[in-house]
Amino acid sequence: MTAIRSVAIIGLGLLGGSIGLAIKARAPKITTTGYDRSPDVRAEAAARGLVGAVHETPEAAVKDADLVILCVPVGAMEEAARAIAPGLKAGAIISDVGSSKQAVAEALARALPDHTTIPAHPVAGTEQSGPQAGFATLFAGRWCIITPPEGADPAALEALSAFWSALGSKVELMDAAHHDLVLAVTSHIPHLIAYTIVGTASDLEEVTESEVIKYSAGGFRDFTRIAASDPVMWRDVFLTNRTAVLEMLGRFTEDLTALQRAIRSGDGDTLFDLFTRTRAIRRQVIEQGQDDERPDFGRGHAE
Ligand code: NAP
Repeated sequence: MTAIRSVAIIGLGLLGGSIGLAIKARAPKITTTGYDRSPDVRAEAAARGLVGAVHETPEAAVKDADLVILCVPVGAMEEAARAIAPGLKAGAIISDVGSSKQAVAEALARALPDHTTIPAHPVAGTEQSGPQAGFATLFAGRWCIITPPEGADPAALEALSAFWSALGSKVELMDAAHHDLVLAVTSHIPHLIAYTIVGTASDLEEVTESEVIKYSAGGFRDFTRIAASDPVMWRDVFLTNRTAVLEMLGRFTEDLTALQRAIRSGDGDTLFDLFTRTRAIRRQVIEQGQDDERPDFGRGHAE
C-alpha cells in the first residue's frame, strides 16, 4: 500500500478544516499543508492551526503531498485542480470531498489527465461553513463514499480508504452515478424541500414573518437548520447533480400529489399508513447510529 505521509488540503472551510483537525487528532504522524484562495481564510486557518503550514499558493501547498484533497465548492473543483497541477509530485493521489460525484470525476479527469484522481464524499457536515466551523470529530462514525473511476490504481484506492478509516469514517465504494442518485434522495432533495418551505413561509402575506419565527418550534425551525446551509455549495450541488435531482423531484412531486388527494378526500388510512412507515425509518436511522435518540434531537427544554 502507498503510505500517505503528507496531505495537502485545498479549501480550508468546514470540510478542509475538519480534515486538518482530524488528522492532527487521529493521525498526527501525517504532515499537513493547506491553501485557500481567500487571504482571510488563510489567516484564520493558520491562527486555528487547521493544518501544519498554510501556503500562499496552491502549487506550494501541494509540492510534497502524497494526497491532495480538494475541499472547495463543486463548481470550483476544476479550477482548483488546474491550479495545483504544476506543483504536484509524481505519484500523488488527488481526491476531493464534493457532494456530487459524476461531475467532479469528469472535472478532475479533464484537469489532471496524467494523475491518479479518486473522488470521494464524506457524508458528514453541518449547516455552518468557513474556517471557524471545522472540528476534529466531524467524520467519526460517518460514512465516506469513495467513487473510484474505472481502472483506478488499487494501491492508491487502498491508501485513500485507509486514510478515511484513520479519520474515523466507515468507508464504502460506489459507482459515481449511483452515488449521485442515492445522495439526491438522502441529501439533495431534503435540502431543496427545506429551502422551499422556508422560502414559502417568508413570502406569506396572511401570516406574518414574525409569527412564523415566533411559533417555529412547531416544526419549522428544524427546516431552518438545513435551509441555513451555504448558498454557494448548494447552488453548485443542484447544478452538477441535475439529472438525479430532477428524476427524484419528479417522484417526490407525484407522492406529494397523492397526499394532497388523500387529504382532500379525507382518506385517513393513506395518511396513517405513510406516517407509520416514516416513523419506522426514523427508528432505523437511530438504530444505525446516524442520529441522537433523545427526543427533539436532544435539545434542552426549560422546566
Ligand atoms: P466552505 O466552508 O465554504 O469552504 C470552502 C472554502 O473553499 C472557502 O474558504 C472558499 O473560499 C474556498 N475556495 C473556493 N474556491 C476555491 C479555489 N478555487 N481555490 C481555493 N479555495 C477555494 O465549504 P465546505 O462546507 O467545507 O464545502 C466544501 C466541499 O465539501 C463542497 O464541495 C461540498 O459539496 C462538500 N461537502 C460539504 C458538506 C457540508 O455539510 N458542508 C458535507 C460533505 C461535503 P471563498 O469563501 O473565498 O469562496
